[in-house]
Amino acid sequence: MTARSDPDLIVARPEGLYCPAGDFHIDPWRPVARAVITHAHSDHARWGHGHYLAHEHSAPILRRRLGEDIRLQTLRYGEVIEHHGVRLSLHPAGHVLGSAQVRLEHAGEVWVASGDYKLESDGTCPPFEPVRCHTFITESTFGLPIYRWPSQPALFEEINAWWQANTVQGRASVLYAYALGKAQRLLHGVDPTIGPIVCHGAVEPLNEVYRALGVRLPTTRRATDESLDPGQLGRALVIAPPSAARSTWLRRFGPDPADAFASGWMQLRGTRRRRGVDRGFVVSDHADWPGLQSAIMATGAQRVFVTHGSVPTMVRWLCEQGLQAQAFATEYGAEDDQDDQDVSEAP
Ligand SMILES: [Zn+2]
Ligand SMILES: [Zn+2]
Repeated sequence: MTARSDPDLIVARPEGLYCPAGDFHIDPWRPVARAVITHAHSDHARWGHGHYLAHEHSAPILRRRLGEDIRLQTLRYGEVIEHHGVRLSLHPAGHVLGSAQVRLEHAGEVWVASGDYKLESDGTCPPFEPVRCHTFITESTFGLPIYRWPSQPALFEEINAWWQANTVQGRASVLYAYALGKAQRLLHGVDPTIGPIVCHGAVEPLNEVYRALGVRLPTTRRATDESLDPGQLGRALVIAPPSAARSTWLRRFGPDPADAFASGWMQLRGTRRRRGVDRGFVVSDHADWPGLQSAIMATGAQRVFVTHGSVPTMVRWLCEQGLQAQAFATEYGAEDDQDDQDVSEAP
């Protein structure tokens, strides 16, 4: 192994990942002066930073969640800025609208902090692009060999068949999904000819952001929408955040709606049982085990830091491949089935 003369371009600090040369943080979890934000999920984009830098498509969601008055600078994918001699650019992560990997270049060293990412293109945001680098920082939310996602067509065939079967019985189909990203991906992929689609109040404002940025989504309605004939509710697909499962909001869809949960965690049988839903659909906006492996290998990085999820398993696998790998302690969540509380509002 050759001696490393250059100081690390990114280090783990108590408040978050930090670039000493550029004097800024990436997705910090405590308030800092300058924060680069990979995407608008609440565990990555927190409140209280002095200055924010993010992809332009994250801007409407960040402003909505963190306030119109945040100091926010935006970039397009591939646009390069220089800060204290560090060249910075954002590249598609394929996770949710506006999600980005952060590429940093300084003194001939290239580092990429990938935030959250997934490989399969879902039609609601530009797909993940591998970026060549010396050092890659990766998540490992689903970094265990059991996690393998069905293909997108197979997934939607399953969801459409479930919805269709429920309409025959006159039962509404309630599908629980994370409000930012997951919900829009489901909307984009389902067959809207099966019946009307109703979205919870935490989901619909995000649908509007996606539509305004050119993502094609089918017509959706609020439960309170007067154009929605109560007689149609037995044919409806209802997209709601997981927290709605505990709310009285659900009662309007009849005494016995069919329900399902859409999450990568549904690969584990016990998770569906714990959630107490009829069905679990395995759909994640994170990479599965083969996806993580191929994404990391495609960067050509010799050194890899693993931030959150199944860290020891991933580190071990990377070391077996002859790479230098180690853990970075972070405070990101396992958001695939969490609610984005900050965007929730009255249904
Ligand atoms: Zn995320
Ligand atoms: Zn995350």
